Amino acid sequence: MLGGKDRGKKGKITHVFNDSDKVVVDGLNLIKKHLRARKQGQKGQIVSKERAVSVSSIALVCKACSKPTRLGYKIEGDLPAGRQGIKIRVCKKCGSET
Ligand SMILES: [Zn+2]
Repeated sequence: MLGGKDRGKKGKITHVFNDSDKVVVDGLNLIKKHLRARKQGQKGQIVSKERAVSVSSIALVCKACSKPTRLGYKIEGDLPAGRQGIKIRVCKKCGSET
């Protein structure tokens, strides 16, 4: 993370949203969620959940060049118009997939 309360922390990306530039990083940017008791006799509870963060606020350590890098995207393949390509994450420094 580059900013916010989790600045300097490291984590594994557990989820990438393909239609936005957001990712979920394991253990980072936790939010506390209060769950209310739905049934009688059931206790309400507080759970921690990772919140998606923008890729612009995290630094990625590239597996190939092991440098902290920004995340980039490229669309794989030469597809006919109207078809969606496969979006892959790439290292902006060495260009390899992450
Ligand atoms: Zn790299």
